[in-house]
Amino acid sequence: MKRREFLLKSGLLAGMSMLSGRQLLASILFAEGKMYPIRDRVGYYVERGGTIGWYLTEDHIVVVDTQFPEQARHFIARLRETNDQPIDLLLNTHHHFDHTAGNIAFKGIVQQHVAHENARANQERVARERGNLDEQLLPATTFSDTWQTKVGDETISLYYFGPAHTNGDAIIHFEKADVVHMGDLVFNRRYPYIDKTAGASIENWVKVLKKARKTFGAQATYIFGHAGKDWPVRGTDADLMAFENYLKRLLDYVQAAHRKGMTLDELKQQTRAIPGAPEWKGRGIERSLEAAWLEIVEGK
Ligand SMILES: [Zn+2]
Ligand SMILES: [Zn+2]
Repeated sequence: MKRREFLLKSGLLAGMSMLSGRQLLASILFAEGKMYPIRDRVGYYVERGGTIGWYLTEDHIVVVDTQFPEQARHFIARLRETNDQPIDLLLNTHHHFDHTAGNIAFKGIVQQHVAHENARANQERVARERGNLDEQLLPATTFSDTWQTKVGDETISLYYFGPAHTNGDAIIHFEKADVVHMGDLVFNRRYPYIDKTAGASIENWVKVLKKARKTFGAQATYIFGHAGKDWPVRGTDADLMAFENYLKRLLDYVQAAHRKGMTLDELKQQTRAIPGAPEWKGRGIERSLEAAWLEIVEGK
């Protein structure tokens, strides 16, 4: 099938027709994002929002997360440089809009779309609250503990290890390539967002990371949702361990401050790094402190 014919049939151009010709051209020609291969046709894409993972051959495409609609269109244009087939599989690591807002760009061109059952429920709930359900593409398939499929010569396994960053974080393992997309279960040297409104648990997050290290091991390459300035969005199990340490130190720090009689406001006025985790710095420490306070002091 010729490229343009496929694009028309797949509805891709139809979806893009809201853009002017010039915008469309610009969105393809001046795409800012970059494709980073890892191995065995698996890699990641970075533009704006949570890191996208991909498996790309002449015949098959698997996509993990979608950033925002504009970025998703750029990314799809990149895929179409080498593959004009329908997309086999779209996966979402969790519901946050920097990972799912771009889903809509995949409407009509994806054969299967999977996320954790709580991620789908969260995406729908938040969209209803914001009144933008019509801008969402919700996963058609959900899972609770594990889910697996084969695409081309790659086996893709999804795992849910319990509440952590949200109550619906899927870990996605490309088994042959031995690449693990951690979604926002790892903020690599950057203060995390901890979504207490969607069932996050710092205490269990530590256990989830430990279980991930045990399950996937030291040989795997890990993809992270976000990273601090000058830190990569890919790494090893040592980076998982470092983030585990950050979360543990955060809980210890807030626990000790509470015992000493400090209030949350007093705690938030301190802007130095969490003791014992100096690599986590920059902006956003108050989000960690607030979430830990809710968990430890208010039992939420
Ligand atoms: Zn994110
Ligand atoms: Zn997130």
